[in-house]
Amino acid sequence: MSGPIIRVEGLRKAFGEREVLRGIDLEVATGEVVVIIGPSGCGKSTLLRCLNALETPTQGRIWFRDELLGQQEKNGRLIPRPEVEVDRQRTRIGMVFQRFNLFPHMTALGNVMEAPMRVKGLSRAQAEELGTKLLGRVGLADRKDEYPARLSGGQQQRVAIARALAMEPDVMLFDEATSALDPELADEVLQVMKDLAREGMTMLVVTHEMAFAREVAQRVVVLDAGVVLEQGPPSVIFTRPSQPRTREFLRKVL
Ligand code: ADP
Ligand code: MG
Repeated sequence: MSGPIIRVEGLRKAFGEREVLRGIDLEVATGEVVVIIGPSGCGKSTLLRCLNALETPTQGRIWFRDELLGQQEKNGRLIPRPEVEVDRQRTRIGMVFQRFNLFPHMTALGNVMEAPMRVKGLSRAQAEELGTKLLGRVGLADRKDEYPARLSGGQQQRVAIARALAMEPDVMLFDEATSALDPELADEVLQVMKDLAREGMTMLVVTHEMAFAREVAQRVVVLDAGVVLEQGPPSVIFTRPSQPRTREFLRKVL
């Protein structure tokens, strides 16, 4: 397939008076892994949340392939989208958060089975088969009947990844998915993310793991104060960025 799978044009988002995204333009190709970096508060999470319909943009357009996502303009007014379309958007664009947000009263398998049954109408048997397969894929086949409280942070995050994959998304968004984890637990989650990338998943990854970015990303996008400051291959961004503010940021994190 050719052409971008996601295209963002002039995306703006304000919370009250405060404009957090100030005109973002971004394209992501099918199968591409894009790492987004930038100082705390620059709008990384807000950008991903707009892509996943957790926030409603104030202005701008988001396309998924040929389909316009986000609210539609009608007679100069923005019209919210029907809930069913928002659900459809979330089945195509999965998201994994810093906090795992698993359902505490469900087992690992139950967590993965829930959305396919509720949103996609899979039978319990089908969802169980899918969930078992996905938990195997994230290395948790033997932990499928455990409740989240009995799993490590890294295992919980891998369940969260399996849960997102259960919707068979075309794009996966990761918002600091390893920031809350000790290094060795972060590594097992990063390994699952690397496997996904290798299998061809399109991924937008907000992370401070610069080694991951170097190894896996085709492109690094630097956000600063709600705009794309610069972007390029990791080899360029990490060694000879063109913007002084990128250099300043990298000095703090590398
Ligand atoms: P980042 O992920 O890059 O650290 P965020 O996208 O989380 O940044 O936040 C960007 C700015 O928007 C921050 O100043 C944050 O306080 C503000 N912000 C985020 N969400 C909300 C919200 N729901 N209401 C008000 N302000 C928000
Ligand atoms: Mg954030």
